[in-house]
Amino acid sequence: MSLIRILKTVALGLACLVAGIAAADPLVVYSAQKEPFLRPMLDAFTRDTGVEVRVLTDQGPVLVERLAAEGRDTRADVLLTVDVGNLWSAAERGLLATLDSETLRSNIPAALRDPDGRWYGLSRRARGIAYATRRVDPSTLSTYAALAGPAWKGRLCLRTSKNVYNMSLVATRIDAVGDAAAEAMVRGWVANLAVAPTPDDTLAIRAVAAGECDATIVNMYYLARLKREDPDFPVAMFWPDQDGEGTHVNVFGGGVTTHARNPEGARRLLEWWSGVEAQRLLAANNLEYPANPAVAPDPILAGFGAFKGDDDRIRVAGPRQAEAVRLMDRARWR
Ligand code: FE
Repeated sequence: MSLIRILKTVALGLACLVAGIAAADPLVVYSAQKEPFLRPMLDAFTRDTGVEVRVLTDQGPVLVERLAAEGRDTRADVLLTVDVGNLWSAAERGLLATLDSETLRSNIPAALRDPDGRWYGLSRRARGIAYATRRVDPSTLSTYAALAGPAWKGRLCLRTSKNVYNMSLVATRIDAVGDAAAEAMVRGWVANLAVAPTPDDTLAIRAVAAGECDATIVNMYYLARLKREDPDFPVAMFWPDQDGEGTHVNVFGGGVTTHARNPEGARRLLEWWSGVEAQRLLAANNLEYPANPAVAPDPILAGFGAFKGDDDRIRVAGPRQAEAVRLMDRARWR
């Protein structure tokens, strides 16, 4: 064999090896975070690590059902989903593996992750009161429960109770004030509705801006995104319950699936996502609070003001979700 041929053989072998490593295990992600908010993150991850990612996006509960149905045949390595209620239900059903990661433990505060390491929060979000700046004096706002009072008759908009954000909000309220007080509050909200519950948070905020109602309860990034498009958008954020439990907070997060074929790639993605560079990108693009406290929020969110969040109740949102759903049904919150 000539030297040239030997070198060619060696070179071909190396090329195959390199291609083999790159193509061996593209990471498969099931994500409830929509493409415009997910894609910049995944592209940055692939740039940083060389790991290719394939994505399937759908609603969080749909992805959880899909994982359960696929069982050990699933191609998913990572589940990314909004709301601790969805993460909790995936973990309860045995669909998420325990991930023991010193990196994630040091980057993510304990309240924003599962004590057993099955899910980790990757952003923090708060569900506050969005009010019409032209019709509401913020000094008249105080608590979630105050929106149930007679002063708010015919002035409130709410998203549908079918949404997991509202389930988690009510679940944490039940934990904070008890079932009876939480139900009285929800019944008061329903009695104060100006229009039928909206299918999403953005429509509820737009109804406030359009004068159909004077306030609503929404995740802050929806308002921040509207403010990014139009700084004069006539709606502002108020943080309720500052003298009590704090404003309801929640997470977007993820975990490694129980039957992941590429658990090391999955760990790498979650650890990368918790790091300073990725958290900066998330803060700027998605307008959510970084889960990693080393990273500051975007100036638009910072403009909403600092607040006390009910972080310690994030973990009760899942376990009390069924009670919340029953309560909202009793109160006829559609
Ligand atoms: Fe959302």
